[in-house]
Amino acid sequence: MDYILGQRSGRCIFCPEGNDEGDAERLILYRGRLSVVMMNRFPYNNGHLLVSPRTHTPSLDGLSSEELLDLLKTLRRCLAVLRKTMTPDGFNVGLNLGTVAGAGVEAHVHFHVVPRWNGDTNFMTVFADVRVIPEHLQETYRKLLPHFAPGEDP
Ligand SMILES: [Zn+2]
Repeated sequence: MDYILGQRSGRCIFCPEGNDEGDAERLILYRGRLSVVMMNRFPYNNGHLLVSPRTHTPSLDGLSSEELLDLLKTLRRCLAVLRKTMTPDGFNVGLNLGTVAGAGVEAHVHFHVVPRWNGDTNFMTVFADVRVIPEHLQETYRKLLPHFAPGEDP
């Protein structure tokens, strides 16, 4: 569903201008030197984050070892922040590569991080657009943002 955002102004949502700051309007939580974290505006579950490299590339093949390491470290940080702030029982973490796999923004590779709670809606049901989002996006954004302090190593 994030393709809707991707088409805004014809610009890639994963290539935000600016440095080191959150951006409430675009739900950007973290801009590191090599990686970016934002909330999915069309979440599969509360706290659904998107983690992408700074480099505009469609697959992991286009990334250097340094970028890959930073991406995974940033992903690990997202899991830690979500664990601390939202106490989920588990996560779904994944890459959607290709339209057939459900990729919304194919041109810029990004990980989906979806927290899961015991008793939450079945993931496939969630994918079928029956989405239950108990917290407002901006409220979740404000809760998560302080945990992504700029300049810190992921
Ligand atoms: Zn991009």
